[in-house]
Amino acid sequence: MANTPYPESYYAASANPVPARPALQDDVETDVCVIGAGYTGLSSALFLLENGFKVTVLEAAKVGFGASGRNGGQIVNSYSRDIDVIERSVGPQQAQLLGNMAFEGGRIIRERVAKYQIQCDLKDGGVFAALTAKQMGHLESQKRLWERFGHTQLELLDQRRIREVVACEEYVGGMLDMSGGHIHPLNLALGEAAAVESLGGVIYEQSPAVRIERGASPVVHTPQGKVRAKFIIVAGNAYLGNLVPELAAKSMPCGTQVIATEALGDELARSLLPQDYCVEDCNYLLDYYRLTGDKRLIFGGGVVYGARDPANIEAIIRPKMLKAFPQLKDVKIDYAWTGNFLLTLSRLPQVGRLGDNIYYSQGCSGHGVTYTHLAGKVLAEALRGQAERFDAFADLPHYPFPGGQLLRTPFAAMGAWYYGLRDRLGF
Ligand SMILES: Cc1cc2nc3c(=O)[nH]c(=O)nc-3n(C[C@H](O)[C@H](O)[C@H](O)COP(=O)(O)OP(=O)(O)OC[C@H]3O[C@@H](n4cnc5c(N)ncnc54)[C@H](O)[C@@H]3O)c2cc1C
Repeated sequence: MANTPYPESYYAASANPVPARPALQDDVETDVCVIGAGYTGLSSALFLLENGFKVTVLEAAKVGFGASGRNGGQIVNSYSRDIDVIERSVGPQQAQLLGNMAFEGGRIIRERVAKYQIQCDLKDGGVFAALTAKQMGHLESQKRLWERFGHTQLELLDQRRIREVVACEEYVGGMLDMSGGHIHPLNLALGEAAAVESLGGVIYEQSPAVRIERGASPVVHTPQGKVRAKFIIVAGNAYLGNLVPELAAKSMPCGTQVIATEALGDELARSLLPQDYCVEDCNYLLDYYRLTGDKRLIFGGGVVYGARDPANIEAIIRPKMLKAFPQLKDVKIDYAWTGNFLLTLSRLPQVGRLGDNIYYSQGCSGHGVTYTHLAGKVLAEALRGQAERFDAFADLPHYPFPGGQLLRTPFAAMGAWYYGLRDRLGF
C-alpha cells in the first residue's frame, strides 16, 4: 500500500519526534469514527474523549499532513468574513452566538498546550496591518464592532506604534490582538495527537476512508479494514476529494504557498519583529508572516484556485517578502512549500449533519487555526445532544460556486483578480 510521507517543509524538518502509527488492517467498533487527523479531527477527538466517548481516527497520510501541518502558524481569531456581514446575512440572534464564539478557538489552543504540555513554540500577539487609510478605517470599525460582542482586548496602533512592532515602511497603522499569536503548526497537531492517544483514542495513519456505508450503524471502509461507529465526523477538509459528494459541490480546494528563510540570528530577527508578534496585512489576497522558534521568517501569501501546485514557489513569494522587508535581500530561502485550504463562496465554514449520525465541518477559507479548534468543541457538544452552537454554524447558508465543477476555478480566479486589483489600487 502507498505510504504518503510529510511534504518537505520547515515544519517537517523541525517536527518533534513522531511515533510510528499503524494502518488499519482489521474490523473495529467505536463510538465515533473521525476521518482526518488535522486540527478539526484531532480537536473533535480530544473533546469527545474528554467526555467519555470511544474514538477512532482514520488519517489518509500522517497526522497533520494537510493544512494543519503546513500553515502559517498564525493564531487569528474570528472568521474569514466580518461579523457585520454575517449579521446582515443571518440576523442578530445567530450573529450574537457566532460573535460570542469568535475568540474561543485561541483560548482552546492555549488550554490544550497547557493541559497536555505541547511543545509548539506558542507566542502571544497578532497584528493586522493596514496598508491604506481605508483599511485603517475598516480596522477601527471592526474594533468597535467586536467590542459590541464583548471582545475588548483589541488595540489600535497608529503609524508610530506599528513601526515599534514591525519594521515595515508600508503600513499606515494596524490593530493588535494579544489573544492572537503563533505556533509551530505541525508540532501542535502532533501534540494533540499524542493527547488523543493518552486518553485512549486510537489513530490509524496511511488509512484513507474510501467509502462510507450509511445507515443506522454506519461503517467506514479503508483499503484493508473497516470501522463500525455510532457517529462519523468528516474532517478531511481540502484533502477529502469526493468521499462525500454533497460536500464537494459547495466548496473548492485552493493552494497557498509559504517560504521559510535561513535562521536570521537574534539581532536581525528582533529588528524586524521586536515583540515577536505575527502579522497579516489587510489585503483581500493577504501576506502573512512571523518568526519561528529558531528565528527564521516564515512568509506566506498568494492563492492558487483549484489547488494546482506552482512550479516555483520561491519566485512567487520571495518578491512579496522583499517588498515588505527589502533589508532581507541577501537572505537565503531554506524551505518553500504549498498546502491546500478549502474555500466556500461565503468564506464561512460549512458545518452540518448528513442523516442522524454523520457530522462534518470544513471550509473555513483560509483562517482556520482557531476555528477548527472551536469546531471540535462544537461538534462534540452536538454529539452529546447540545446542538445550539453547532446549529448556529449549520444554519449558515451555502451556495454552489458559479460555473459548477468545471468553471468554478476560472470564475473564482477572476473574482480574486478583481479583489487583488482593488488592493493594488487602494479602493
Ligand atoms: C499554506 C497554508 C497556510 C495557512 N496559514 C494559516 C494561518 O496562518 N492561520 C490560520 O488561521 N489558518 C491558516 N491556514 C488554514 C488552516 O491551516 C486550515 O484552515 C486548517 O488547518 C484546516 O484544518 P482541518 O483539520 O480542517 O484540515 P487539514 O489540516 O487539511 O486536515 C485534513 C486531514 O484529513 C485527511 N484526509 C482527507 N481525506 C481523508 C480520507 N478520505 N480518509 C482519511 N483522512 C483523510 C488529510 O490527509 C488531512 O490530514 C493555512 C492553510 C494553508 C494551506
